[in-house]
Amino acid sequence: MRRLFTLCAAVLLSVAAFAQSKGYGWPMDLKPVSFSSTYGELRRNHFHAGLDWRTGGRSGERLYSIKEGYVCRLSVSPVGYGNAVYIQHPDGTMSVYGHMASFRDDLAQRVLREQYDKKSYRVVIYPSPDDFPVEKGDFIGLSGNSGSSGGPHLHMEIRKEGDNLPVNYLADGTYPVTDTKKPVINRVGFYAFEDSSAVPVVRRLQMVSNPDKYKGTVAVSDKFYVAIDAVDHMDGTGGRMAVERYRVYLDSEKIFDFKVGDVPYSKGRYYACLVQQGEKGHDLLKTWCPPNNGLLYKVEADNDGIICLEDEGTHTLKVVVADCFGNSSSCSFSVRRDPSIKVFEPADTVGRLAALWYVPTVYSSDGMTLTIPAASLNASAYIKCEKVSRADPSLGRYSDVWTIGDGNIHLQRPLRIRLSTAKVPAGLSDKAYIAQRDDKGELSYAGNTPVEGGLEAETRFGTFLVAVDTVAPQLVPRVKDGDKLPSDGRFSIEANDRGCGVAQFDASWDGEWILSQYVGGRIQIYPDKRHRTGRTHNVMVSATDHCGNSSTIRFEVIY
Ligand SMILES: [Zn+2]
Repeated sequence: MRRLFTLCAAVLLSVAAFAQSKGYGWPMDLKPVSFSSTYGELRRNHFHAGLDWRTGGRSGERLYSIKEGYVCRLSVSPVGYGNAVYIQHPDGTMSVYGHMASFRDDLAQRVLREQYDKKSYRVVIYPSPDDFPVEKGDFIGLSGNSGSSGGPHLHMEIRKEGDNLPVNYLADGTYPVTDTKKPVINRVGFYAFEDSSAVPVVRRLQMVSNPDKYKGTVAVSDKFYVAIDAVDHMDGTGGRMAVERYRVYLDSEKIFDFKVGDVPYSKGRYYACLVQQGEKGHDLLKTWCPPNNGLLYKVEADNDGIICLEDEGTHTLKVVVADCFGNSSSCSFSVRRDPSIKVFEPADTVGRLAALWYVPTVYSSDGMTLTIPAASLNASAYIKCEKVSRADPSLGRYSDVWTIGDGNIHLQRPLRIRLSTAKVPAGLSDKAYIAQRDDKGELSYAGNTPVEGGLEAETRFGTFLVAVDTVAPQLVPRVKDGDKLPSDGRFSIEANDRGCGVAQFDASWDGEWILSQYVGGRIQIYPDKRHRTGRTHNVMVSATDHCGNSSTIRFEVIY
């Protein structure tokens, strides 16, 4: 027992000394520390720039500034980081705390004042250094699940170079976290690649699961690349963490090396260029570096990651992955070139546009015009462009229905689609919009910018048509007329629009603007202590959809 105690004390001491050496404190009291997601996870649309700290599955953990400095930014949004505090430290670094439930009182008052001044739920405030100075360990607010968050946690970042460069503070020893577990290589995919025309064609050859047990020889085409699905595991957490480094060797010569890290915010969107989309969201990291990739300088790849075997003999391909604590795993494959593998089939191009990534692609046919701006695609590609059904106003199709591209092709910026409104009756012309239709036939709003003879939407790949919406949003209060509100005053109104969706909403309290937000199909109303009189108040809520249909409800509450 005594020995165990001594050991624990020794560990605690070394932990304290370690944390002190970097000068950062813990953002929470909750111990032991564990993470649900780490820096640089493969995400299709952005670079995960921080660490997600577990908060025991609940909101309300007290959060502290990890270092002295001052609150340099406060932001509130129904999406993104939700309620977030940014602290500037004197050493030039900045710490960011996202998805908070609430701010410390003085910060909350500043935010509320700004929200009422601007009459907006969404605000971004840049306090001056004297407004809210903080010491290391100062309370800043409570953890939560606000913004785009799938469950209560703390998203915390440390940035350097002012605001631009989020760092992997798990890797640089900022916190004394141990990880003795190796990453695991779940799958390695082999993809044939053919670029004899200006537009490359990719075809999956083989996906090897449990690659460390694989004994066969993989037959590959003349040119091919590999993609790796690997996750890291850490002591004390069951989460799937990001692997830090991926290396590929051909006959013991290194041909690919990518180390996650130091991705500036301005380049985060290029992360999608590294991703091979897999089934059920299990994405892989691919060796092929498509040309429109602002992260190319971060990747060491012979021949842009495309592998060519010089002969038809058997070669060895080895994949090595490592986490940021030096734990690594590897697997090896025998590969042999099979010249009979055909990659390019002329049928692949039927009904498809050859879109070159470095120039705009414009295509018009039958009342539809598609524009893909230059530098939107990661690489040149054959884009599906198909009329899937004809206009039939009696079935709600006020234009032909077009399928453009597919979900496996990533766009770095939106495309534009124009559809003719010739089939929309004159009396309904201001109620028409471009709808995106999903696999289940459900429609959602894509856009309704008027253009000569039709409408235009800035959107992603998908299936599109012109639809008409004449029905106003339906508003259903979650409190009964004359109800007494709970002590925090918060209540909501369901706001559903089955057509083009709610575009604007507004709420008033005894005739004055009141703070509200629209999230998850509800308008949430936030009275504060200034609204609390113990008497009856008149609430008015209105919502307008994208086609200008609006509804208003009025009711009374006691607060
Ligand atoms: Zn996060």
